[in-house]
Amino acid sequence: MLVNNKRLYRLNQAPLAAGPILYWMSREQRVRDNWGLLHAREMAGQEHALVVVFCLAPAFLGATLRQYDFMLSGLAQVEGDLAALGIPFVLLQGDPGQEIPRLAAELGAGGVVTDFDPLRVKQGWQGAAAHALPVSFIEVDGHNVVPARQVSPKQEYAARTIRPKIHRLIGEYLEEFPPLEPQVAPAPPCAATARAAHWGEVRAGLAVDGAVGPVSLVPGEDAAHDALDRFVADRLHVYAGQRNDPNADGTSRLSAYFHFGQLAPQRAALAAAASGRGEGQAAYLEELVVRRELADNFCLHNPQYDSLAGAPAWALKTLGEHRADPRAHCYTRETFEQARTGSRLWNAAQNELRQTGFMHGYMRMFWAKKILEWSATPEEAHATALALNDRYQLDGRDPNGYVGILWSLAGLHDRPWQTRPVFGSVRFMNENGCRRKFDVDKYIERWGGS
Ligand SMILES: Cc1cc2nc3c(=O)[nH]c(=O)nc-3n(C[C@H](O)[C@H](O)[C@H](O)COP(=O)(O)OP(=O)(O)OC[C@H]3O[C@@H](n4cnc5c(N)ncnc54)[C@H](O)[C@@H]3O)c2cc1C
Repeated sequence: MLVNNKRLYRLNQAPLAAGPILYWMSREQRVRDNWGLLHAREMAGQEHALVVVFCLAPAFLGATLRQYDFMLSGLAQVEGDLAALGIPFVLLQGDPGQEIPRLAAELGAGGVVTDFDPLRVKQGWQGAAAHALPVSFIEVDGHNVVPARQVSPKQEYAARTIRPKIHRLIGEYLEEFPPLEPQVAPAPPCAATARAAHWGEVRAGLAVDGAVGPVSLVPGEDAAHDALDRFVADRLHVYAGQRNDPNADGTSRLSAYFHFGQLAPQRAALAAAASGRGEGQAAYLEELVVRRELADNFCLHNPQYDSLAGAPAWALKTLGEHRADPRAHCYTRETFEQARTGSRLWNAAQNELRQTGFMHGYMRMFWAKKILEWSATPEEAHATALALNDRYQLDGRDPNGYVGILWSLAGLHDRPWQTRPVFGSVRFMNENGCRRKFDVDKYIERWGGS
């Protein structure tokens, strides 16, 4: 078997039938290094055809043109790369929970494979499809090095509790990917596989918020691999020392590629592990594997991952006790959004985000904590941070974002610290702390905080 069967999870109990295999590409939008696609190709074998489908939902958690444009460009490359291997790609539009079973029936599919995703909206689509499909429907975890369903059956308390579990299992899962075999079986004759995707029309027909436009990061699998190669060759060795300096180009900046599945985190882990870059390699693998997989663990096991109610009890208690504390400032969402707070540093961070679709990780913590400090209530702060994160970050609407926001605002995966106004015992950050870490004025000058 090409794919470790512990990556697989049955989404229904229906049997595998004779016929083409349908791979419903969702979170893992790539041709190389994709365990779900590899498994579907193996199931199809030489006898049956494999068909790959992506179903474009009319709206997705407030995503704007910025995110749709990046995703569609990547998918157009997927279509071309699959065609070179003789594998048809179908682009559907509509509610995936209905459209996928409809296509499976049209193809006479013998089985359906899809990607693991802990988010409710995706699990809702998968649940609807699982109910409607009369054939085997299998989920494959191609996002986590150690599959989320294997690492732990419960919500982990913190990095220190999931780390030993990941380290214990990583040797089994951090393996090289096999190549995807070209397809010889002819595509099943049906209208869907005969129709090429018209990307221009699809783009023109998007009913999404166009006020937040595309950014300069080059989308797609090839660009993602180039970016990884450059990071490993030029910056991984300074990662440990520079990753907390927002003026340095010290981090990998691969998060959008991971979010859209244009690059396998496991490919980045393999490259880092083979790099021999000592301290940088260890620090990077901690973020890429332990912290990232902790976020998937949280969203898989806590249905309130996108609400303040998902925070630990101690943090909710302390925030409640400080609910009525006077705020030095109380800004509306619009003031935050337009980068018009009284803090030049905060405004600079928001400008970086609006202009580039990316905010440096260190600034994300400061940015979110100040939203808590300057909002009327913790609930309002959470809603503002989530809305702005998901609207402007190219990598938004991701488990890492839900967890990063709850970590910053409400102590998730953290511990109580010294008590302060508004924050209670949730960890505090201020501009003086930033000044001790990096050249704040240089950052403000670069991003125009006024
Ligand atoms: C308030 C807040 C909001 C955030 N929103 C998002 C988001 O919407 N999407 C997103 O992908 N990340 C989010 N993060 C996590 C983190 O800041 C970004 O993943 C990271 O800054 C991306 O830059 P990079 O790829 O250069 O990271 P690197 O430093 O190069 O790290 C490598 C990879 O490790 C993972 N990673 C790094 N830091 C974290 C972390 N703290 N938690 C989980 N995984 C991590 C990411 O996949 C990242 O690409 C958020 C963090 C905070 C505090």
